[in-house]
Amino acid sequence: MFEVQNQPPPLEPYNLFASDAVLREAVKRERAAWADGELIALGATLGKPETIQLGFDANRYAPVLRTLDRYGHRIDEVDFHPAWHALLGIALNAGLHSSPWAKPQAGAHVARAAGCYMLGQIEAGVYCPIAMTYGSVPTLRQAPAIASEWLPRIFARDYDARFRPAKEKTSALIGMGLTENQGGSDLRTNTTRAEPAGDGNFRLHGHKWFLSAPMCDAFLVLAQSPKGLSCFLLPRWTPDGERNAIHILRLKDKLGNRSNASSEVEFDGAYAQLVGEEGRGIPIMIEMASYTRLDCAIGSSALIRQAVAQAIHHARHRTAFQKKLVDQPLMSNVLADLALESEAATVLTLRLARAYDESDEISVVFRRVVTPAAKFWICKRTPALTQEAMEVLGGSGYIEDSILPRLYREAPVNSIWEGAGNIMCLDVLRAIERTPNAADVLRQELDAAGDARLQAFAGRLQQRLAARERNDEAQARALVRELVLALQAALLIKHSPPAVADAFCASRLADEGGGAFGMLPRGLDLRAIVERAGPV
Ligand SMILES: Cc1cc2nc3c(=O)[nH]c(=O)nc-3n(C[C@H](O)[C@H](O)[C@H](O)COP(=O)(O)OP(=O)(O)OC[C@H]3O[C@@H](n4cnc5c(N)ncnc54)[C@H](O)[C@@H]3O)c2cc1C
Repeated sequence: MFEVQNQPPPLEPYNLFASDAVLREAVKRERAAWADGELIALGATLGKPETIQLGFDANRYAPVLRTLDRYGHRIDEVDFHPAWHALLGIALNAGLHSSPWAKPQAGAHVARAAGCYMLGQIEAGVYCPIAMTYGSVPTLRQAPAIASEWLPRIFARDYDARFRPAKEKTSALIGMGLTENQGGSDLRTNTTRAEPAGDGNFRLHGHKWFLSAPMCDAFLVLAQSPKGLSCFLLPRWTPDGERNAIHILRLKDKLGNRSNASSEVEFDGAYAQLVGEEGRGIPIMIEMASYTRLDCAIGSSALIRQAVAQAIHHARHRTAFQKKLVDQPLMSNVLADLALESEAATVLTLRLARAYDESDEISVVFRRVVTPAAKFWICKRTPALTQEAMEVLGGSGYIEDSILPRLYREAPVNSIWEGAGNIMCLDVLRAIERTPNAADVLRQELDAAGDARLQAFAGRLQQRLAARERNDEAQARALVRELVLALQAALLIKHSPPAVADAFCASRLADEGGGAFGMLPRGLDLRAIVERAGPV
């Protein structure tokens, strides 16, 4: 038997909070320092070898659809591996599905964002129902009777995996059904019909082309009612205790996100209750989308962080050509570049989460403009970053046990789900156009950094925002990229060590290089950047 040599130890157990300097600082700065104790406890739970294994198991043993029971009755159930349920139990126990609503306080959305950022590093699939449940609360509140029945269950932290009517359960999760076969971006094309049942409720007939986490207890769905496209709550069970007529046709065979089921469904007169004003379905669902889009930015920042943590950990232990990889000058450049991307994603995401904690004018404008912008750019950077991190591990990075293949397969989903890249950029244009003080708010945010390098870049951005062509749709991606880079630079200049801010400005604002990571210019303190990002 050969001797195993020069292999790093696994990165476990480790505390995902205590070992992450950037996250700890951001939580404190964005006013959630009170949550430190809970976040340290969650970071320890998530970083245990047995929890990490749950993530692997939940993905290896994919959910299975059972349409019929053995006698031929429709049951439309999906069986998940016990690891899925165990991970959801951890997430609910930490309140990641609803804590800012159940216990509102300054920094509540930031504290939750930090918890989700850690969860998403260990298993991203369970984050889907967590995000949808979190996003559903403001929408459900538009229907007070529904809210008073459902919110206590949504706020509960005892995960109940049973497929039973919600009133028999300790807790409930909510999913969403917007996308239909003929279109997901342009929701006006929805054809599912909602017919008044005569008792104030509705019956749905139609289909949804994507309905993720189909074992959620209820779904917010869009359907055409007599007054136009409206929002409905569609429970899995009817009030008289029957299975609702939601037929799961098949589960999608997805690239990644494999622990989670995403289904195609048909409604055959399914019982549903109207949420909010009839005919105003799209604006009602857009509010939910704002929260789930924040979660896409958090989820992708999480994937980035886990990839960077694994890459640095590996490079610290693996030797090639008589040096640790981390000390090879070119590897040091690659790792520092990855670390910069990660820190920039994290600080922007948590700054954005704070905007959800506050209701002043600046915060409202900030979240309206920056949510789609951050979702676009952070999610867009994730596939390239996870590929590069995989390469740091060499051949072992391509092997499932390393977690990098799972991160890589997961990487594109947040960019598509809840509005693909182009839709996000067009949304940023719309937000700027419809918010008279948007340019001022952004300028204040950038000016506060008081930095000459940023000033020149931000000046060009401001000119672009003021120009008549700012609504040129074909240029929207370029504009949004600049906006995000400027905001990230401002945050790093204000709050991060100079080594990080200098390298970010020298690479991202100078518009040199590009195309691959690891092309940072000379004269930067690469060692300090990598040291800071290491999972110690
Ligand atoms: C894993 C996964 C889970 C999902 N889960 C759910 C779920 O639970 N519930 C749900 O409702 N949906 C879900 N979706 C669907 C998802 O939200 C949609 O796929 C997405 O919104 C895009 O819609 P579409 O697929 O119909 O693409 P289309 O709308 O056909 O868009 C295709 C492309 O065209 C671009 N595009 C569209 N309009 C324009 C324009 N005007 N200018 C320029 N470009 C444009 C888009 O950016 C996109 O790149 C899920 C998707 C995935 C991959």
